[in-house]
Amino acid sequence: MAVLPPGSTLGILGGGQLGRMLSQAASRLGFNVVILDPEENCPAARVSQGQIVAAYDDPTALTVLGRVAQAVTFEFENVPAASVATLAEGGALVAPGPKALAVAQDRVDEKTFLNGVGATTVDFVAVDNLDNLLAGLERLGTPALLKTRREGYDGKGQVWVRSAEMAADAWQAIGERPAILEAKADFTRELSVIAARGRDGAIAVYPLGENVHAGGVLKTTIAPAGVDATTEARASAIATAVLEGLEYVGVLGVELFDLGNGALLVNEIAPRVHNTGHWTQDGCACDQFEQHVRAIAGWPLGPTAAHARVEMTNLLGDEVEQWTALSAEPDARLHLYGKAEARPGRKMGHVNRVKPLV
Ligand code: AMP
Repeated sequence: MAVLPPGSTLGILGGGQLGRMLSQAASRLGFNVVILDPEENCPAARVSQGQIVAAYDDPTALTVLGRVAQAVTFEFENVPAASVATLAEGGALVAPGPKALAVAQDRVDEKTFLNGVGATTVDFVAVDNLDNLLAGLERLGTPALLKTRREGYDGKGQVWVRSAEMAADAWQAIGERPAILEAKADFTRELSVIAARGRDGAIAVYPLGENVHAGGVLKTTIAPAGVDATTEARASAIATAVLEGLEYVGVLGVELFDLGNGALLVNEIAPRVHNTGHWTQDGCACDQFEQHVRAIAGWPLGPTAAHARVEMTNLLGDEVEQWTALSAEPDARLHLYGKAEARPGRKMGHVNRVKPLV
C-alpha cells in the first residue's frame, strides 16, 4: 500500500487518552482523524475531525470507518478479531495486524509466543480448573500469581496464591475463568522498552524507562532509566525479536522484570502506545504517538534518542486537582486528558518533569 500523505484520514478504535494523544500527533502531521468509541464526546473525539458513536463490534460502524479511513489503528488491545476483519474488508490498512492482537489478548498465547522468539518469561501453567491450579502450584511453588487469560489490565483479574489451601478461593476470586498461573518474578526493578517497526521493516527503539507501580497501576516512569549498555542492548534485542516475530507495524510497549543479575524477563507486551512511553513527549524529538502515526502511514520512523531525562507521574483521580500548582512548576509539562469525572484511580492526566540528561 502506498505511503499515506498528509490529508489522509486515520481511524482510531478507542477514544480515551491514548487515542487523544495519537490524534493530536496525527493532526500535527496534517492527517484527519476519526474516532470510533461508544461514549459520545470522548476525550479523543474532542480533538479529532469526527467520531462514530457505536460499539467496537458494530458492523455498520466498522464498515463506514474502514471506508473513510485509509489506515485504522487501536488504543487498546481487546478489539474483537472480527472487527479487524470487517475493517480490512472496508479497504483500510489495519495496524497492528490480527496476529499482534491475538497474541496480546491471551496471556498463555502471549507467553508461548514470547518464549518461542527467545524473549524469556516467568515459568507458567495454563489453568482451566481447580485441579490444574493445584498441579500448577505444586510445579511452580508458592507464592504464584493467578491471572485471567483474557481481559486483565492494571492488576485487575489477578490474585496471589500463597498456599495450596488458598487455591479454591483464588479460583473463585478470578471468576473460575480460563487463567494462567505464573511463577513469582523476583525482580529488583521494573523496566519497559517502547519500540516501533515501520511498514518497510525498519525498527526504532527508545531508551529504557524504569517504572514504579502502586496497586497494579503505573505511578511513575523515569527515563532514560540509566541502565548499563548490556541491559539496554538486551532489551533492544527482545523488542526487535517481538516486532519481527509479529510482523508488527506501529509502536509496541514491552514490560520487563530486571532480575538484577543481568537477566530480563518479559512481563507482557502491549500492541499500542503505552503509558510508560509518555515520557517521550518531552524527552525525545519524535514521541511515541508521532512514531506510531509515522509507522502506520508508511513514513520513515523518527529519531528515538533522548534529549532530556523525564520523570513521568500519572495523575490518578482527584490528583488532577493539583493542576494549578503543577502548572506553576517551571520544569513540569502538564498533559491533561479532558475527562469530566475524576473517579478514584482513573487516569486523568500526567505530568512530565523535565531534567537535564545525565
Ligand atoms: P500485569 O497486569 O501483568 O502487568 O501485572 C501488574 C503488575 O503486577 C506488574 O507490573 C508487576 O508489578 C506485578 N506482577 C505481574 N506479574 C508478576 C509476576 N509473575 N511476578 C511478580 N510480580 C508480578
